[in-house]
Amino acid sequence: MNVQEQKIGIMGIARSGLAAAYKIKELGGAPFLSEFKAADKTEGSENIIKEFDCEFGEHTERLLGCDTIIVSPGISLNVPILEKAKEKNIHLISEIEFGFLVKYPESKIIAITGSNGKSTTVNLIHHILQTAGYNSVLAGNIGMAFCSYPIEKAGIDFIVLELSSFQLELIDKFKPDVAAILNITPDHLNRYNSFDDYALAKFNIFRNQDNSDFAILNLDDEMSRKHRNELNSKYFSLNSKTDIYYNGKQIKLGSELINIDNSTIKGPHNVANIMASILAVSPFGIDKNTIEKSLSTFASLPHRLEFVAEVRGVKFINDSKATNTESVKYALQSFNQPIRIIMGGGGKGEDYSVLIPYLKKYARKVYLTGEIRLEMKKAFTGLIELAVFEDFEQAIRNAFKEASAGEYVVLSPACTSYDMFNNFEERGNRFKEIVLKLKNES
Ligand code: ADP
Repeated sequence: MNVQEQKIGIMGIARSGLAAAYKIKELGGAPFLSEFKAADKTEGSENIIKEFDCEFGEHTERLLGCDTIIVSPGISLNVPILEKAKEKNIHLISEIEFGFLVKYPESKIIAITGSNGKSTTVNLIHHILQTAGYNSVLAGNIGMAFCSYPIEKAGIDFIVLELSSFQLELIDKFKPDVAAILNITPDHLNRYNSFDDYALAKFNIFRNQDNSDFAILNLDDEMSRKHRNELNSKYFSLNSKTDIYYNGKQIKLGSELINIDNSTIKGPHNVANIMASILAVSPFGIDKNTIEKSLSTFASLPHRLEFVAEVRGVKFINDSKATNTESVKYALQSFNQPIRIIMGGGGKGEDYSVLIPYLKKYARKVYLTGEIRLEMKKAFTGLIELAVFEDFEQAIRNAFKEASAGEYVVLSPACTSYDMFNNFEERGNRFKEIVLKLKNES
């Protein structure tokens, strides 16, 4: 892509938009930046105004003078200015597509999407590649934006990308060397017309792949099986013998048996993430010893079933990243002792009744809080013991007060954090602070 010959607009000045703007400038182009928020509400706007042609406070028709617009993943494609842009045949792309068009051709891309397990899986793939001695960078939805790295230059062996369905909506030529969908379960249904539309946005990840590339799917996942089409894919499974599978003790890939006893991440969902990671690096001839070593040295991520502390025999677990019902199902199945679970937050249009059989089987009591608490109460009343709290801290304190030694108090909300916090990390950190306060008080 020649950024000097065309006018490129950037719609939404946040992490990825800004990274694309600087990349265009570095490559000799002059982008036009447009942000809906006022300048004084946009981080770093003073510098942005100095360095770029830009507008704040609204997206004006100036955007329609561009040949290409890089649209932030947070913006719905149905907003009026983008409808007009489509009518004018302006090329709408994501920052991921742009990064792909300008990257050094020999750097390989491993792209991962899915409803749950993306961050764990991309981190593990990145860790395996680094352990094998490759220069790998981790980008996309996690850490730094794709365009923040010197991707146009030689030297990066692998770019491991975590991609959301939003980033995959505006893909045109993006062609990853390895692509995987980990699973497709209901999420973000407030942004898609149907569950199938959401699934199809994820399948965009394979759109331009050919036989020289590697496509990975989860054989245990119903939506992945439904939409797999004629893809020449490799599969992983916890239940059936396929390209890579779990035999109840070890992972089997072809004739190779991989030991996971020393893996730092546990639980069936993590075995699935491990299998997807091993399959993703399998075209690059990394030996079994390096893989086993990587599994035993992998630093697990905070806010995902993270052990916080034990206070008078009660164990506290922070799973703030569990922002949908599917991940809560796994949280409930990950402990061998009764669970007092703290749920609630901002809603995403999910049906919470799918959790009832799991709550009945594994939870002693549910402590509801956050904006969605009354909706959840309606779904669970009469079926499972519950209590409702306006205050986050009170929910945790009550769960602790009622818990006996040996039990778990787990924050696994099934909801976004935006009703009370800036992000899931802030919610998880607040939980940890409260637990430490309880520890000091005891
Ligand atoms: P993502 O980046 O897709 O949100 P994470 O690795 O951050 O995924 O995990 C998010 C939540 O989902 C955590 O609560 C985690 O315990 C749970 N989880 C991780 N892997 C899986 C999986 N394969 N299936 C279901 N839930 C998972």
